[in-house]
Amino acid sequence: MHDHPTPEDGYEWPTCVTPRCKRQLWVAEANRWACRPCEDATAQRIRELPALFAQLDTTAALMRGSRRPGGATSGSKTPPIPPRLEVLALVGPGGIDARLSAIEDAWRSALGWTIAPWRGSPKQAIPHLVEFLSNNLLWACSSYEEIGQDIDDLRKLHAECAALAAGEKRPGRVQIGLCPTVVNDNWCGTQLTASTGSHRIHCPECGNRWETLGEWRELRAAQERVLAEAAGVAA
Ligand SMILES: [Zn+2]
Ligand SMILES: [Zn+2]
Repeated sequence: MHDHPTPEDGYEWPTCVTPRCKRQLWVAEANRWACRPCEDATAQRIRELPALFAQLDTTAALMRGSRRPGGATSGSKTPPIPPRLEVLALVGPGGIDARLSAIEDAWRSALGWTIAPWRGSPKQAIPHLVEFLSNNLLWACSSYEEIGQDIDDLRKLHAECAALAAGEKRPGRVQIGLCPTVVNDNWCGTQLTASTGSHRIHCPECGNRWETLGEWRELRAAQERVLAEAAGVAA
């Protein structure tokens, strides 16, 4: 049984410092700033960030019309899907990596440790940041008075990433142009849509699908050919 405080105790029992929690701490937790459930939820969110970053980073590559991985020539200058600033901002410098770095820096300062070394691009830095925060989360929940704010910031960061990755932020998907598939000598022409949550484009009319970055690029090229032909016919 837990020794839970009773009203007769007559004094203010310590509560978790996380803004949205404020749960009363158990006796076994009384030497902590943040409660155990907050620590567990935060650890889980930190663990999920690398996969969310990878997903958003792939989406950002499609938005930038980036080069074929390992390829010599650059592809079309037109990105396969329209850029969304929230996604580009999260995966670029100053996004997820900077927000995690700020927390690491504060913890290191509180611990009296030297500042973190430069870790390169967000893609290179995020695994190190995640490792540092995971390894030191228990310390922070126990001994770092400002941990409540960091737990809240990590919750918000995770929620932003998860919402964008799931394509929930903007209900209704992104329109990416008309289906260029030729069906019975006619151009299908159905409006295609994409979401950041899936790297699969499927035409609901003719059933054609495009799933990889290379296929997305072929789709874009085919759309441009169709438009050029249509312009040629009209001229
Ligand atoms: Zn809590
Ligand atoms: Zn189609």
